[in-house]
Amino acid sequence: MKVDELSLKQRAFIGGEWVAANNGGVFAVTNPATGETLGTVPDMGAAETRQAIEAASRALPIWRDRPAKERAQIMRRWFDLVMAEQERLAHIITAEQGKPLFEARGEIAYGASYIDWFAEEGRRVYGDIVPGGMDRRLLVLKQAIGVTAAITPWNFPSGMLARKVSAALGAGCTMVVKPAELTPFSSLALAELAERAGVPAGVVNVVTAKDPVPVGQELTRNPIVRKLTFTGSTEVGKILLRQAADNVQKCSMELGGNAPLIVFEDADLDRAVKGAIATKYRNCGQTCVSANRFLVQKSVADAFSQKLAEAASALEVGAGVLEGVDVGPLIEEAAVEKVERHIADAVAHGAKVLTGGARHALGGLFFQPTVLGGVSADALIFREETFGPVAPVIAFETEEEAIRLANATPYGLSSYFYSNDIARIFRVAEKLEFGMVGVNESILTSEAAPFGGIKHSGMGREGSRYGIDDYLEMKYVCIGGM
Ligand code: ADP
Repeated sequence: MKVDELSLKQRAFIGGEWVAANNGGVFAVTNPATGETLGTVPDMGAAETRQAIEAASRALPIWRDRPAKERAQIMRRWFDLVMAEQERLAHIITAEQGKPLFEARGEIAYGASYIDWFAEEGRRVYGDIVPGGMDRRLLVLKQAIGVTAAITPWNFPSGMLARKVSAALGAGCTMVVKPAELTPFSSLALAELAERAGVPAGVVNVVTAKDPVPVGQELTRNPIVRKLTFTGSTEVGKILLRQAADNVQKCSMELGGNAPLIVFEDADLDRAVKGAIATKYRNCGQTCVSANRFLVQKSVADAFSQKLAEAASALEVGAGVLEGVDVGPLIEEAAVEKVERHIADAVAHGAKVLTGGARHALGGLFFQPTVLGGVSADALIFREETFGPVAPVIAFETEEEAIRLANATPYGLSSYFYSNDIARIFRVAEKLEFGMVGVNESILTSEAAPFGGIKHSGMGREGSRYGIDDYLEMKYVCIGGM
């Protein structure tokens, strides 16, 4: 699909209008596979953010007070439109983000599944009648929290937005979204379809900006905004939490990870290799749930490393729009440099490059799928999320050591392990300090399951029947004199 066939929306979306920045400023968005400019979007700041918040506030009673069934019908129409346009939306993701088309199609279906899910969950927001009140009646009501804000990342520009907006809308909230500056077109395309589906003006607003700081400050400090949901780095999450503290704003944070993937000697090695490839090289390793550390029991470490290196070297690298490509480019030059730094540091600490290890012959932002053997737990790659196509293999001796190494990180998003011993499966799953554990499975996310982390990986859950709670307030009502 050519760029002009993508029908890119090059305006922001505020109060149901497609608008330019107040001063007319724009910034360019590029294709990471080619470096070409795809188009421009408005470069907005605090003033436009305030306008969007006010629009969301005006729309709140219109949306919140509508029967949940009607909200669900509109959201279902939105879901249908997203799936009908899956191909165009997938091409937009690939153009601005770089991932292979088959993954982009999957991302559209994934995001849409949350719209469908929360349309339904919104109809099942039950309260309680609490017994034991004697001459009183004790009730618990659950009500939409109000105007909410979302700041989303570039790695899943469509999926992350759909996951957040759908929970907010299902609960009866309105939302102002600030997409990542590298990938705004996917969110504008979703907003366009929401408008077509009949989501009322002001319920969903998209503010685009080159500099996220003034927008983030307004979203956290404006007293109208009662909740912030953020997906991105732990560093930025902490800044936003500090800002939100002054406003005592409720926050959901999906932050960085440093996922271990443990392979025990009783595991099915081929299944473990398949799982490792799927979690590590998907989206070129730029996924917060990607395994970052491969902890492998000594007796099978060489066999596993060899099989992994063979499978990684067979992956096809190239522009995501080409058929047969498995791994696209990294998002920007800084990301490539971080990958190089992590590899050089691991090698300096005694690691061996088993495959890859360098930029790809295609040049630009392409990097070879890499496997490192004999990596030390002192290497930088053990402590920091690489966010690139590098699999470091670290050997361990005992189950206790594996758990200690896995938990030796301030992060606690996802973790994985491979074992066929049922007692070990329960033991290890209970001891891993992570919000999500995959056992003999490396692709975990589903709209039906609670996605989220602990420790420095964040707070709150997205998806599942629990996900809607992040957008609801509980109100206790006590009726006396009965
Ligand atoms: P990544 O490391 O994945 O690029 P970031 O945390 O830098 O993640 O970015 C995630 C989102 O947070 C993007 O939408 C980005 O524009 C936004 N962002 C970055 N810095 C700030 C900030 N200081 N205030 C508000 N938003 C920010």
